[in-house]
Amino acid sequence: MKKLNLPLLPTTVVGSHGKPSWWTAGVRLWESGQWGPADLEEMLSHAVDVAIRDMEDAGIDAITDGEMRRLDGYVDSYYAIIQGIEAIPVARKDGPWGYDQQTRYRAVGVIQTPPGGLGIVKEFEYARTRTQKVLKATCAGPLTFASRIQPGAGYENVVQIAERFAEVINQELKALVAAGAEWVQIDEPARGNVSGEEMARLFNLATEGVDAKLGFHICFGNRNGRARFKRSYRPYFPGILEARAHQFVLEFASREMAELDLWRTYNDGRELGAGVIDVKSFYIETPEDVAERVRAVLQVCPPDKLYLCPDCGFGWSPNNMCTAKLRSLAAGARIVRAELGVTD
Ligand SMILES: [Zn+2]
Repeated sequence: MKKLNLPLLPTTVVGSHGKPSWWTAGVRLWESGQWGPADLEEMLSHAVDVAIRDMEDAGIDAITDGEMRRLDGYVDSYYAIIQGIEAIPVARKDGPWGYDQQTRYRAVGVIQTPPGGLGIVKEFEYARTRTQKVLKATCAGPLTFASRIQPGAGYENVVQIAERFAEVINQELKALVAAGAEWVQIDEPARGNVSGEEMARLFNLATEGVDAKLGFHICFGNRNGRARFKRSYRPYFPGILEARAHQFVLEFASREMAELDLWRTYNDGRELGAGVIDVKSFYIETPEDVAERVRAVLQVCPPDKLYLCPDCGFGWSPNNMCTAKLRSLAAGARIVRAELGVTD
């Protein structure tokens, strides 16, 4: 694994960037048939350019393409291209949004992706031409893909479906490394029905033979800014440490930095990507708020192993909220670096 050129307490993002209003309008035009594929492609490339510029302007050290090409959340757009599944009609379609309004699927055949894979390689290749910054590529985890697909067609349970997706993800990650990716991250909400050991086993299947810095983001769900699962990491430790991840990227800010003691107990020298920005709250943290959170994390993690990030992606945040929070993240990191005697 190549050493990446990053300062002490590197700031980064989890994955997705806040969408501008015109992004939403463009997707609507595409879905209604008023735009063709070239219109959409042009808009999405411009959206990636804006996401990269926003992150660079804010002073974030390691960035992504903002996941701007993923049209319906970070995993939903994949279901449209995966073969061997069929949609189940949604029972509640109106009223306040909830997770029960997400389309679910059932397995009806061998689960496969098209020859081009999930499309993350194309995302990475474009972003690589648009920035000199350290780039991270992100992919939803095996359980995230599998959890909305009911067993069937020879798949007996969600874990078997997840094992199939681990193979799909593994191919994608190897192609990403071949395309030059040096840092990849698996995103996998902690859903309560699978143990830490099982999550780690699936992570290891998905990343087997992938020669890159490996991040493992575990959160509690974030669609429309709503958590989905019980917000405690305690049940997953220490089993989750069996994952061959170089870095765990965890959600702390939305929980007012609860459970940092887990890292004090189980820290085995690996990197912690600590969530110090609450992506679910519209309150814009000040740089001093961020610095205070970073100081709390430094009580349980040495500075040379600590990365600073938002709790999760900004995919459900307006662009202005996202960029204001990114600026505070970078400014908060500068405050603490100065306290540690590092100037940038
Ligand atoms: Zn997340």
